[in-house]
Amino acid sequence: MRIVQKFGGTSVASIERIRKTADIIQSELNQGKQVAVVVSAMSGETNRLTAMARELSATPAVRELDALVATGEQVSAALLAMELQSRGIAAYSYSGGQAGFVTDGDHVRARIKSVESAHLLVHMQAGEVPVVTGFQGVDEHGNVTTLGRGGSDTSAVALAIAVEADVCDIYTDVDGIYTTDPRMVPKASKIDRISYEEMLEFASLGAKVLQTRSVELAMRFEMPLHLRSSFDLVQGTMVVGEDETMERAAISGVAFNRDEAKITIMEIPDQPGIAANVFGPVAEAGINVDVIVQNVSEQGFTDITFTVPRSDYLPTMEIMRVLCKQMQARDVKGDDTVAKVSVIGVGMRSHAGVAKAMFDVLAVEGVNIQMITTSEIKITVVLEEKYIELAVRALHTAFGLDRQEA
Ligand code: ASP
Ligand code: MG
Repeated sequence: MRIVQKFGGTSVASIERIRKTADIIQSELNQGKQVAVVVSAMSGETNRLTAMARELSATPAVRELDALVATGEQVSAALLAMELQSRGIAAYSYSGGQAGFVTDGDHVRARIKSVESAHLLVHMQAGEVPVVTGFQGVDEHGNVTTLGRGGSDTSAVALAIAVEADVCDIYTDVDGIYTTDPRMVPKASKIDRISYEEMLEFASLGAKVLQTRSVELAMRFEMPLHLRSSFDLVQGTMVVGEDETMERAAISGVAFNRDEAKITIMEIPDQPGIAANVFGPVAEAGINVDVIVQNVSEQGFTDITFTVPRSDYLPTMEIMRVLCKQMQARDVKGDDTVAKVSVIGVGMRSHAGVAKAMFDVLAVEGVNIQMITTSEIKITVVLEEKYIELAVRALHTAFGLDRQEA
């Protein structure tokens, strides 16, 4: 059995935590497994380094920013390798470049082009442990690059694929994915197995356990992920292909996001090109539009409503006011107290009536639905933020997700 173990910032946050992490690695080696390790920077370190750069300049050169933040992972990799060596384990730290991670030259958000890691595999087969810095690589000219915040997850998955590992273990401070946020619904339960697609839907709704790109990469190469805690060594959540998840209920979980705002542009002349005109400037401003609804047009006019992250609400309203004048729409209205609630599940493909069941539950609770959007495995509603807890709890119960007391 060959595994890649990824340890996040909290698992290498202190000398004590590094020792605990070494225990985990050692116990896998003792079971005869071949092991490679990928580490994040000690928690808080990437922020600390970035803040120093910002003190010098509001716009530090991205090449130097990458050279700077890449050091965070080098510290934790070297410390962990030292600790493993002191236990008689042949462990060696590798920077991204040394481990064979080649990326494009797009600093701060580089993409991995290839992982030339045959040399690491030879070490693993000899019972040695490469300890690789996550989050980084080098471009074709040898410049240090980084993969975007949370990028160590993607490094770990890419390495697991390159060395043909059986599984990629991702250790964090939570012990898996839950049917909803346990802080909101104490009866939320841990999901044993979830599909890559469901995981992506949860992630897009703010369940920031994994960098999205890492899940996309794992899905493409069918690399099983095991999300688990380094604080509590229980079985976590397996992220696997859809056909490997068990036959189960229509819904796997209820996700929500409070960070939403809604904007409506009213009575805009309905002609080819209006959507492009409305969303072009928003995209140019780097703002992500999510749910979009366009109404039927009446007498040549229509309303378009869409949501953006709440932090982009004011700049988007600005853009829309200008557009409103230019395009001779009647008015622009906005509301930054909305939230999004989604039910997610690959089971929806084979269970009819999930949408109706969801709307019934919300109707009984007296929750007004403002917008609806669906995908094959997700139904999302936009509602007033003050109803979010009521809606999430009611849906969690109605879809049979509440943990049964033993
Ligand atoms: N240290 C980097 C960050 O904080 C990468 C990672 O931890 O995945 O974003
Ligand atoms: Mg992380």
